[in-house]
Amino acid sequence: MRGQVPYIVSWSSEQFLPATVVDRPGYGIAYTDEILADRDQQGVLWQRKSVSPGQGRPQFGQIHPLRQRRAMRRLLCGICGGPPDQNEQGMLWLVRDFRGDWPGWPEGMAVTEPPVCLNCARLSARLCPELRKGFVALRVGRSAVTGVRGVLYQGGPSEINVALDDPTVRWVQAAHLLRQLTECTITELAE
Ligand SMILES: [Zn+2]
Repeated sequence: MRGQVPYIVSWSSEQFLPATVVDRPGYGIAYTDEILADRDQQGVLWQRKSVSPGQGRPQFGQIHPLRQRRAMRRLLCGICGGPPDQNEQGMLWLVRDFRGDWPGWPEGMAVTEPPVCLNCARLSARLCPELRKGFVALRVGRSAVTGVRGVLYQGGPSEINVALDDPTVRWVQAAHLLRQLTECTITELAE
């Protein structure tokens, strides 16, 4: 049962924890009762959420910020948390099919989805409602951590993708880590 629930998905027992965001002019946002664990190594402020996977019901539409960040930073399969599949063309990713979006898609695309292992790729290609709308399997030669997706606290909260080297990142409460996929090859999921 637990094996069917993706590693990065939140469970109903996992709740956002109280956090009051304050504006520090010239510096960025902060929590009033901030602790070291609220920021990553780059100094980015992250959403607070309790951690108790497996307890309660899975919340398939909600990604857990800390497990997503861990899977992205360490390059873990986003479904089972194990090592992703890797061959001479690169690491395996499953993404929604937006081939029409721009010429050369998906080269340079920033994603919040972690890579996948072969077993989980085959399983989720059949079972994941999002991917059933159309997916592409990619081999990715390089995937640098380039930014975060989160809520911008400047002129009213809004959700944005922001690069880690953009000063705007200091006004963002991060929810997801982004990797930029380059050296991409569109491939098939061999049976
Ligand atoms: Zn897996």
